[in-house]
This record gives sequence, C-alpha cells and structure tokens, in this order.
Amino acid sequence: MAQVIYKGIGSGSGFAVGPSIIVHRGELAVPVSTIKKGEVERECLRFSDAVDITRKQLSRIRDSIAKAMGEEAAFVIDAQMMVLSDPACIDETEKIIGKNLINSEHAFNIVMQSSIDALSSSNNSVFVDRVQDIQDVRRRLLSNLLGLKHQVIPMPDKKSILVINHLAPSETAQLFGSKYVGLITEAGGFTSHIAIMARTMDLPTVLGVDNITEIIAEDSKIIIDSMLGQVIVEPKKDVLEEYKKKRRKYARRRKYFMEAVDKPAISIDGHKITVTANMELPDEVSLAEHYGADGIGLFRTELLYIQHEQLPFEDEQFEIYRSIAKQVSPHAAIIRTFDVGGDKLGNLFQYHYEPNPFLGFRAIRIGLMYPEILKTQIRAILRASAYGNLLIMFPMISLCEEVVRAKEIIEKAKAELRDEKVKFDENIPVGAMIEVPSAAILSRDLAQECDFFSIGTNDLVQYTLAADRGNPRVADIYQTYHPSVLKLIKFTIDSAHYAGKWVGLCGEMAGEIRAVPLLLGMGLDEFSTVPARVPVVKKVIRSIEFNKAREIAEQALRFTTQSEVISYLDEQVARILPIDLL
Ligand code: PEP
Ligand code: MG
Repeated sequence: MAQVIYKGIGSGSGFAVGPSIIVHRGELAVPVSTIKKGEVERECLRFSDAVDITRKQLSRIRDSIAKAMGEEAAFVIDAQMMVLSDPACIDETEKIIGKNLINSEHAFNIVMQSSIDALSSSNNSVFVDRVQDIQDVRRRLLSNLLGLKHQVIPMPDKKSILVINHLAPSETAQLFGSKYVGLITEAGGFTSHIAIMARTMDLPTVLGVDNITEIIAEDSKIIIDSMLGQVIVEPKKDVLEEYKKKRRKYARRRKYFMEAVDKPAISIDGHKITVTANMELPDEVSLAEHYGADGIGLFRTELLYIQHEQLPFEDEQFEIYRSIAKQVSPHAAIIRTFDVGGDKLGNLFQYHYEPNPFLGFRAIRIGLMYPEILKTQIRAILRASAYGNLLIMFPMISLCEEVVRAKEIIEKAKAELRDEKVKFDENIPVGAMIEVPSAAILSRDLAQECDFFSIGTNDLVQYTLAADRGNPRVADIYQTYHPSVLKLIKFTIDSAHYAGKWVGLCGEMAGEIRAVPLLLGMGLDEFSTVPARVPVVKKVIRSIEFNKAREIAEQALRFTTQSEVISYLDEQVARILPIDLL
C-alpha cells in the first residue's frame, strides 16, 4: 500500500508507531422485530448472554484501570456495573420481551430509554452522571447483542493505535495503562478535554482528522506525529527510519528537561516562579511529584461528578481532598469546584439539549443554581484544609456577583463546621478563574473579591475569538497568541497585582515553551500545566533573565496578528534554549 499522510491537530506528546484499531461510532441502529411465544425463552437467553459478556468486559476494564490508576479511579466502571445489576434493567427487559413479544435489542432499548427520559426530564444536574453511565451501558450491551464489536473500545493485547470518532472523558481515562500507544480522533481541538487527558497520560495523539475512521483500514501500519499533527499511514521505509531518529531525539529532549527537575524555577537574575501541575484524577498527584511540580495549580474535580454512580458524597470527597493535601504538603493544591458542562457531559448532550453548551448551563452557574451541591463540595474542601494547604477556586466566573454569592456559600459552610466543631483553615484562600472576557475586563473589581486569580486560557481564547475549543473546523481562528487574548492576560495580571494579589495561569498555554518568556515577562506568578510539561517550563525559566522576558513581553504585545507574535517568540526561544532540542 502507498504511504498517505493526513493532517490534524497534534497534542504535542511525541510520536507513536503501531497497527490501527478502528472504532466506528455512528448512532446504533436498533432492529425492531416481533417474536413468537415459543421464542421468548431463546430471546431471553440471548439477552442474558449479552449481559454476561458485557459484565465480563466491564470487569476486565475495571481491573486494568484499578491496576494502572488505583481503586479510586475504577469507580467509573463500578457505576456502570451497577446499572447492569439493577433489576429494573434486567428483569424489566425480560418482562417486556415476554409481554410485547419483541426482540431483546428493542426491549432493552425501551427500558434504557425510559430510564434516561425519567432522569433527563427531572431537569436536575444531580442525574448528569447517571445518564452518562446508562448511555455507556446501553451502547455496550446493544453492541454485544448485535455483534458489533466496533462500538466499544476493545482492549488490545499488543501495542496499538486507537482510531475513533470521539471519546467520552470516562473512556479516555480507560486508555491509561492500556496497550494503546497512540490515539487518533475525528473530533476535538488542542485544548479539548480529550487532548488534555491524553497529554496528562503522555499519549501521542492527533485530533480533528476528518473522516479518519472511514479512511484507514483495520490493522494498517501507522505513525502518529503529535508534534506536527500528522498521521502517516503505511509509511515508506525511509520515513520509518526518519521517525526512529525523531523518537530518539524526543527521548533526549525529555532527558534534557528532566535534568534538575527538582530545582526551583528561578530566573538567571533571581526571580522566583511557582510551577504547579494540573490534575484530573486523584491518583495524578504522584505524576506531579515525579515531574517536580511545586504543588497542584488546578484539580479539575468535575470527573468525580461526571463518572460517578451518584453525586459524590461529602465524606468521599473529603477523603480525596485530604489525601491530596497531605501528599502535596508542604506545597499547596488548588481545588476547583466542579466545572461540569461544555464538553464534559459526553452523551448527555442529546438529552439535555442546549444549542450552545459552552455558553450555557456550566460550572459555577450550576453550583449557584444548586447551592446545596456546591456547599457539599465546599464543606469537603474546608474539612480537608485542616490537613494541608488547600485553596478554593471557582470556574467560569463571568459576573462579580457570582463570586460574592459563591463566597456566601463558603461562609455558610464555615458556620456549619464551626457549629459542628470541625476543624478547617479559617483563612483558606478563595480565587476565581479568569476565563471569560467579561471577567478579564472586570478583573480590577474582581480582584477586590478574590485572594488570587488563575487565568484559564483554554476557555478565554474560545470566548474571546468566538471559536469552539473542540471544533477542528475553527481551529485556525482559535488563536492562543492572538493580540486580543494577550492584552486580556496582561490586563488581568496587572489588575491582580494592583490589588496586591497573585495570579497564575492554568490553561494549556502555560506548558508551551514559547509562552514561558512571554508570560514570565508579563509578570505571571504561577504556571500550572500538565505534569509532563512542568520540567520544560522550569527549564525555560531557569534559562532566562526576568528583565529580558519583560522586554520580550513588551515587544510581543505590540503585534497585531498571531503569526507575528509566534514567529517573534519562537525566534527568542531559539536563542534561549539549544536549538536542536526544539
Ligand atoms: C481553561 O479553561 O483554561 C482551564 C484550565 O479550564 P478547563 O480546561 O478545565 O476548562
Ligand atoms: Mg476552563
């Protein structure tokens, strides 16, 4: 077969070579047919066989997650197994098969759909996670009944590359510790949550490759170049050789950045910066430690909500936050309250339809609509704050009142804990994410209400340029280095400093080499990035003078297009670091 190259968006996590496993994700066509009375028993048997197969698949996935990421992370699958043990699911399907004399696919689909409808019509975000689990189980079991192996993600026994239309966050987590060495998707952009999780796992990924599941054949030889965003199918011999060299160079580059990983990030002229890690799953603290992070700058707690059987209870969350506080000590961890919504609902979109989910009912908006749910999380964080340094951060703030109201909920939780004589940090710092342009523009006023800011460029870019972060078709308009974005970042940093507060940045930009001199020069106090990028950020900071970085930032802010900014920054970075490592 001739070599073909496809372009997409690279995650920037190196290279992978392997055979493809294709997973097609069209909507399942559920066959509808009637059966005779005498066929009921056989149909029920067919159904219970599919239930058994599904249980076994889930149990295998559960074991591999527990092995790779610990028991806590395996709750994603426990929740799905519970759906399968629910008599309302199994008995009811068999009853309908016998009563309506219909095939098991149709009967099971009716039962699942009525559960989904009931949960969805309650219009209560409490059921968000439950619907997601039911959807996953529905798809998996129907695929088994229909003999469509391709609807679910198979776990290979040799190194392979997964080629798939799109992945839910829970499914992306399943790839951790599996034999998959690379990932290619049709959906997603550089800052979509699939991409962020893939980077955390250090899994070479190319996103947004149009129709790739239709084009590539199963078991094709593939090279993933996540640095250039390229997929090379059936590579020529010399290309394979070239990539062997690239992989060696990439390994050298990693080694170079890992050297002195535990040393602090202090510029040549003595300006000290905090470099922290972002995390999505409780077990990732050890990754942060491994890469020399000065604590956790962002714990995205929403996965605890999206992947769970029920809303996480206070005690359960308390244990997780306490364990993080203890592990990162003497450093700090910023716990962001749940940022459910946007692209973090998976299949729920179809059932809580919102025409513009990223502009809709998301993050703090949900927390303020359901203050009891937010208060439960805040109580858990406060209780855990007695065991280390924790900070509370609110996502997607777009109005000053939101911070005021969220702080009232903190005060309520504190008063309750005082009454209950439970210890907590009375002075726990409270911050806001600056990721909506209105918050950046109002940052002078917001700074009065907050102890710190963390700039979320992943969202700030999409909201400033009106370009969906997960839509590959507008990826060229989604410009992280657009002058409008840089001006908002600079204004936010200045506003925080004017009020005597510190400011971090936890979007993917914080981990990009070219952004480091720029943000350092703008006066940023803390960089928070995926764990594997921490050593890179530290190294760049240690290789530059703060005064030089200020000059670079001043000049970068004068351009009118992203391309001018990028070529200027790349030129500067090449002078700072050895060129053959870039
Ligand atoms: C951001 O928007 O930059 C951010 C860090 O939050 P998230 O990626 O979780 O939306
Ligand atoms: Mg965000």
